[in-house]
Amino acid sequence: MKVLLRKVTKTPLDFNIKSNEITFKGYLQYHSGKLILLKADLIGLVDTECNSCGESFKLLLDEKIEFFISDGLYTNTTNIDIDVVESFDSSADLDELLNSELELIKSDYHYCDNCK
Ligand SMILES: [Zn+2]
Repeated sequence: MKVLLRKVTKTPLDFNIKSNEITFKGYLQYHSGKLILLKADLIGLVDTECNSCGESFKLLLDEKIEFFISDGLYTNTTNIDIDVVESFDSSADLDELLNSELELIKSDYHYCDNCK
């Protein structure tokens, strides 16, 4: 699902994406300047491998995701550290964002029930 960033206003734009056993549900909302806020819950099961025994298992996700999407190059002019994803085609590809969030979670250390 692709969203044109200029169509996002102060009124939250809801989205709900299902991918396999994952639900990515939240909203996009115009923030200020070139920034659009994305706030979502990432809930479901994802296949991953135990970092100790190498066994693959399903990891239960219940994550709160919050970051900004910048319409074009983003220069931080404040001292506040915020998470910003830059978009260079004036749109946000929510499936792609979901995938990169999942990759990020998978790259973390996880242990199966036997190794916990
Ligand atoms: Zn294990």
